[in-house]
Amino acid sequence: MPVYFTFSSDDGQISQASGGAIGALSASDITSVARWQNKTLGYEFSFHEGHDKGRPVYITRKGVRGGDMSKINLNGKDAGTVLNAKKIDGKIKKDAEEVVASNWELFEKLAEYFYEGAPAPPAQQTAPSFQCKKCGPISAHVASGLQPNAAGFLECPKCGQWLK
Ligand SMILES: [Zn+2]
Repeated sequence: MPVYFTFSSDDGQISQASGGAIGALSASDITSVARWQNKTLGYEFSFHEGHDKGRPVYITRKGVRGGDMSKINLNGKDAGTVLNAKKIDGKIKKDAEEVVASNWELFEKLAEYFYEGAPAPPAQQTAPSFQCKKCGPISAHVASGLQPNAAGFLECPKCGQWLK
């Protein structure tokens, strides 16, 4: 499924918090945005399956979807410039190029999410969080029941050594 979006702070498609279709942008990504697109120009960005080599983000006038679209590759020798620019007017071309250039890492993140899928959640931490020099690992479960000693360290429940 292609995903169309405007690069704007109120577009839920690109926001992690909204669970958008390419919800790659965290709250801090969103506050880091250097420049949002000019919405009065009436255009949309989009990603489409099957074009992953150049990592293109497509640009179309709002409501005109599909066809031979203008695009900016995020990868490869043409990266950063609008290709097939005659499909959009000069103001849109200029705005889209500036928006992508000033938020390059965020567009890469969106492309990554679209083409590769959502990143896997971090693996469950099964490793013990504490280690006793003498007795070995102390599980997080056991360690969470221990009270720190006067110096603020946890002591091994078996031998009384400080845990690291
Ligand atoms: Zn110990």
